[in-house]
Amino acid sequence: MLVPGAGGRGWYRHRVVAELARRGHPAIAVDLPADDGTAGLAACADAVAGALPDGPAVLVAARTPVRGLVLVNAMVPRPGETGGEWWTAAGRSTPTTSRTPSCTTCRSRRCRAPGRAGAPGRAGRPVARRLTRPGRLAVVRALVFEEFGGPLTVRSVPDPVPAPDGVVVRVGASGLCRSDWHAWAGHDPGVALPHVPGHELAGTVAAVGSRVRGWTVGDRVTVPFVCACGRCAQCREGAGQVCLQQTQPGFTHWGSLAELVALDAADVNLVALPPELSFGTAASLGCRFATAFRAVTGVARVRPGEWVAVHGCGGVGLSAVQVAVAAGARVIAVDVSPAALELARALGAEHVVDGAADVPAAVAGLTGGGASVSLDALGAAVTCVNSIRSLRPRGRHVQVGLLPPAAGRPEIPMELVVAGELAVLGSHGMAAADYPAMLSLIAAGRLRPDLLVTRELALDAAGPALAAVGREPGIAVVTRF
Ligand SMILES: [Zn+2]
Ligand SMILES: [Zn+2]
Repeated sequence: MLVPGAGGRGWYRHRVVAELARRGHPAIAVDLPADDGTAGLAACADAVAGALPDGPAVLVAARTPVRGLVLVNAMVPRPGETGGEWWTAAGRSTPTTSRTPSCTTCRSRRCRAPGRAGAPGRAGRPVARRLTRPGRLAVVRALVFEEFGGPLTVRSVPDPVPAPDGVVVRVGASGLCRSDWHAWAGHDPGVALPHVPGHELAGTVAAVGSRVRGWTVGDRVTVPFVCACGRCAQCREGAGQVCLQQTQPGFTHWGSLAELVALDAADVNLVALPPELSFGTAASLGCRFATAFRAVTGVARVRPGEWVAVHGCGGVGLSAVQVAVAAGARVIAVDVSPAALELARALGAEHVVDGAADVPAAVAGLTGGGASVSLDALGAAVTCVNSIRSLRPRGRHVQVGLLPPAAGRPEIPMELVVAGELAVLGSHGMAAADYPAMLSLIAAGRLRPDLLVTRELALDAAGPALAAVGREPGIAVVTRF
């Protein structure tokens, strides 16, 4: 199996390698650019060791051996090197290296020290192991698609194993989000097939990697859909939601529309759930509700009495309506669906506007000159442009809904941005460190994410529901696996 080393999403290459290891590929060749060799290989070595401690021989194309991995310049086999034949006949499973398991600590295949694969870890914690019972096939049920836009079927897949810094969570609930729909539709170039979607989750820790310090089996948790690395410049500045080495369940690796899901960098990303918060309600905190909370309070910095227009009243839009109302704003909700607008009104929207009408004119009329804050909570060219045109001078537009290029690029009216000194802001989820403020408002009853969950489904019903995301208002959550 060949994993290209170059490309715009190179930072997640190690996730692809880990996923291939999980799926039992006996040998993996990683084509790394010469200038990315050491760091890239170290990441791949870590990822493979975490995915499968007694896993495959890893064949790498690089100029120096890293952490005991076998060195093969397979692109152009040279005298005395092995593995070239395997590479040139990619797909022929003839690895030339020993399958002896590596030590999980030093990564040597000759190591016999405690901590070696299958033995207790150095810190007294068990090393990663499969979670299913002995004698039973190591599989879990998951929603899988084999091709973009193709059938969504529930079937058995290998169960995940935690990375050394990660955990595996037994999923208690997983929301169905428009971002999952984008992944299924093929709008995310980082998704590899076959794929398991799902990124809005809550559940119980079922297995813990050897380097995790803050979490144990049985903890009730959720996680931001952006799992930050905790080490890069963005993470050190407290902006893990834009971490350049982020992983995302359901995008960079298999997600939570399954019985079990693997999550990376657990000590950075896991959020403990209060006992009174159900999994079904907490699932939305991982994406839509937390995203809306940060967009309204952290990015737009909505003040009491301000007019806030919310364009698109799906899960994130309805969440934004509720958060903005709680912040003391006067809210105008915009959508083409009368049912979605009805829900927005029930959540406190002062006015509703039909999205098929002249939205900027309607908002200007209702507010006496435009909104102070306007959010595109859908992610479409028309809602983005309408949102910017709905603002009064010095207003703030926040782009919350994803706008993948495949869905068409909006023509931003930059002449209005300049003339009105408008702020055009992006908002991308919320880091785990920012959750406590939101959780305390939920505990106080000032925010009610439970009101947004309109449907609870079984995993077997998730396929049709995912394909139809957006047709029914509110948030659908899978709670039975
Ligand atoms: Zn980071
Ligand atoms: Zn989402």
